[in-house]
Amino acid sequence: MLRVAVVGSGPSGVYAAQGLVGQCEVPGVRVDVLDRLPTPYGLVRYGVAPDHEKIKSLQGNLRAVLEDDRVRFLGDVEVGGPRLSTGRLLELYHAVVYCVGAARDRPLGIPGEELAGVHSATEFVAWYSGHPDAAAGDFALARARSAVVVGAGNVAVDVVRLLARGAPELAPTDMPQQALGALAASGVRTVAMVARRGPSQARFTTKELRELGALPGVDALVDPAEAALDPAYAAGPDAAAELPAVARRNLEVLRGWALRGPGGARRRVVLRFYLRPVEVLGGPGGRVTGVRFERTVPDGPDAVTGTGVYEELEAQLVLRSVGYRGVPLPGLPFDPVTGTVPHAAGRVLRAGRASPGEYVAGWIKRGPTGVIGTNRPCAKETVSCLLQDAGALARRALPGDPLDALRAAGLRPVEWSGWLAVEAAEAELGRSLGRRSVKIPDRPGLLRAAGARPGPAPGTAAGGAAPG
Ligand code: NAP
Repeated sequence: MLRVAVVGSGPSGVYAAQGLVGQCEVPGVRVDVLDRLPTPYGLVRYGVAPDHEKIKSLQGNLRAVLEDDRVRFLGDVEVGGPRLSTGRLLELYHAVVYCVGAARDRPLGIPGEELAGVHSATEFVAWYSGHPDAAAGDFALARARSAVVVGAGNVAVDVVRLLARGAPELAPTDMPQQALGALAASGVRTVAMVARRGPSQARFTTKELRELGALPGVDALVDPAEAALDPAYAAGPDAAAELPAVARRNLEVLRGWALRGPGGARRRVVLRFYLRPVEVLGGPGGRVTGVRFERTVPDGPDAVTGTGVYEELEAQLVLRSVGYRGVPLPGLPFDPVTGTVPHAAGRVLRAGRASPGEYVAGWIKRGPTGVIGTNRPCAKETVSCLLQDAGALARRALPGDPLDALRAAGLRPVEWSGWLAVEAAEAELGRSLGRRSVKIPDRPGLLRAAGARPGPAPGTAAGGAAPG
C-alpha cells in the first residue's frame, strides 16, 4: 500500500491524484487531497471567471477524480499552519505532493499604490469569485466612471471584461449576490487596459481578446497610431509571419478593432500600449484619481525604453494585473527569486538533493504560467518521479489512517459528503434568489453548509453573508 497526500485541490493537485491512481503499480494506492479551503477545485472555482462556463465545466472532470474510491478529499486542512506541519504530514504519508499554486499578487512598486481605490486584480477576482478570504467591500464601483487595469495578460482581460459586462450577462453565473449587485450598480463607463510594451508582446490569448471585442453594449477600441509603434503591427498582416501564432492572431484582431472605431456604445474598453506606470495619483481623502504613465518606444525585438514623455489617465478604480508569485510554505524550501520551490522534475530539492517523499506540481513548481491544461503534463512528470521512488517509499510503516491523526491534531476536515452538502446549499441559495447555483462567499457559511459547524442555514441573514 502507498499512501500519498496531495496538498491543494486545484487542477494541478487533482491531475496529480489522477496520475497516481491511474499509473501506480503498487497495489492499494490511497491518495488524500487536502485543501486549506473547505471547498475543492482551487483556481477553477476561485480563479476562472464566472462567465467562462466552458472552462468552469472542467470541474466535472476534476470531480470524477475526487470521487474515485482510492481518492479522498479533505477540506479545511491547512498544511504549514499551527496544527499540521509539513514534517508531520510526511510522517503520516509515504509521499506528499505540494500543489499549492502561486497565491500572491505582484506589486507595481510605484508611488501612490497604497491609495484607496487601488487594488490587485487578485483581490478583485477573489471578490467576484466568492473566495472566502476576499476582503469586504464593493470597490466603490457605484462612484467610479473610469477604471485603469495595468497589465496585458489573461487575468487583465478577465477583470476588464467583468467590469465591462452588464448585469443581465452576469446574473446567470454563480457569482455571489453581493458582487452581482455591486457590478450591476457600477458607474464605470470606460475601462483602459494598459500595456508597457506593444501589441505583439501582449500576453493575452486571442480567444480572450476576441471575446472582449464582442461584448454586448461595449465598444472595444485601440488607437491605430499607438498600436503602429509596434514594428510588427506597422508592417501589416503579411509581414508578421515571423511572429508566434498567438501574437500574429492578436494583431489581426486589433487591426479589426482599429478599423471599426467607436460605435457609440454605453461602455468602452480601450487597449493602450507603450505606457509604463510611474505613479498613481490621488486626490482629497487619499483616493485614487488617475495613473501617470511614461510613454515608451520599442528598443530591440522585445524590449522598450522610456521617452521622458508622460501621460495621465483618469481613474477612480485602478487594478494592477501584473502576474502572481508563489508564497513560501513553512517547512518547505523556497526560492525567493523565482517564487517557486526548488525541484528536479518535481522532486523537491533540499540543499541541492532530492528530499525523499516530497514533490511539487503546478504553479509552485514552474511559476504562474500556462493555462489549466498545462498542469496535466506538469503533474504527470512529477507523478512519474514519485512512482519511480514508490517502491522504496512504501517500505516505511505509517502510524495508521491519517484522518485519525488530523482529527487528533484538532482539525475537522470537510469530507466529500460535506462538499456535496455545500453544492446543495448553493443550489438552494440560487433558487431562493431566482438564479442558478450561487456561491456562498464566506468560510463560516461554507462550514455550516458542509455540516462541519453548527449554525443557521446558508442563505439566511446570518448564514450567507457576503463581504460587505
Ligand atoms: P501574465 O500573463 O504573466 O501577464 C502579466 C502582465 O503584466 C504582462 O502584460 C506584463 O507585461 C505585465 N507587467 C508585469 N510587470 C509589470 C509592471 N511592473 N508594469 C506594467 N506591466 C507589468 O500574468 P496573468 O495575466 O496574471 O496570468 C497568469 C497565467 O494565468 C497566464 O499563464 C495566463 O494565460 C493564465 N490565465 C489564463 C486564463 C484563460 O485561459 N482564460 C485566464 C486567466 C489567467 P510584460 O509582458 O511587459 O512583462
